[in-house]
Amino acid sequence: MEDFVHFWDGEKWNGPITDGHMHLDRKGRCLDAAYDFEKSGGTRLILVHKPDFSQLPQNIGDVSSAYIETLSIANEVRESTEIQVQVVLGPHPVVWVHQLELLGEEMATELHLSSIDLALEYFQSGDCVAIGEIGRPHFPVSSKVWNSANKMLEDILEKCASYNAPVQFHVEDRGSETCTELNEICTYANYPLSIALRHYAPANVSPVFTSELPVSVSMGRGSIEKIASTVDADLLSKGKHPPILMETDYLDDPKRPGAVLGPRTIPKRTNELGKYLQTPQEDGGMGWNQQKIAEFLWKIHRVWPDMLYGECR
Ligand SMILES: [Zn+2]
Repeated sequence: MEDFVHFWDGEKWNGPITDGHMHLDRKGRCLDAAYDFEKSGGTRLILVHKPDFSQLPQNIGDVSSAYIETLSIANEVRESTEIQVQVVLGPHPVVWVHQLELLGEEMATELHLSSIDLALEYFQSGDCVAIGEIGRPHFPVSSKVWNSANKMLEDILEKCASYNAPVQFHVEDRGSETCTELNEICTYANYPLSIALRHYAPANVSPVFTSELPVSVSMGRGSIEKIASTVDADLLSKGKHPPILMETDYLDDPKRPGAVLGPRTIPKRTNELGKYLQTPQEDGGMGWNQQKIAEFLWKIHRVWPDMLYGECR
């Protein structure tokens, strides 16, 4: 059997550990947060661009400097740690909602779409591995804004489809309904489902619930039990399960400490998941054997991130 099977020793996962969606901010803990992740066992970070919500970009020049800032933070983490970093760049759908008031719809949408074009240039050069966060507001908006957001999302996906660029969706949470609609929008835009990832996803990973979209699960309390009970063991054993990643969505916002999951969460939850899967069914666990557990954790932290974002250089 392959090496990775030994990474699960019955107590602890000693293999790679990937956080599928994290932000770092120079005004926050930045490198210190990356050190925390590494010290607790983290090995790979999908670093997602975070716009400055207190100072929204007015033009493409502002967007460009903000992207460059994210790329430079990624480089700093690479230089200061052993963590492998892959960057996701894109304009945030909530930024667009705020810009509607400031710039008017036509200009806001134009700026949003040119921010996508710019991110796609970085994708082509290999500086980023995906486009995100894209999607639609997670809070109620007028039906006019909602329809415009959905139309724009379709345009964005068409652009990304021509480069086969993976995306990370930031969307509202209406459970499986949200996934069904994303699946439809992808179909209209001719965008491949296999790289259309829902970020901040609920822990129900059943392909019926997710409409077969890859998901990056927000690993709050109760998430491991839900993942364990909804993962499709049959598809998993056939190697056909849609990708499942784990994420913190760590915001690194000094104004909101503790508002989100901390950078140590994914290593901790990974070990909890392994132990829960291993616990015999009569004791309330899932009764998986060590090899099956190792294969699953290996997929979450290595195989699926590679499938979506490519191997780390
Ligand atoms: Zn985020």
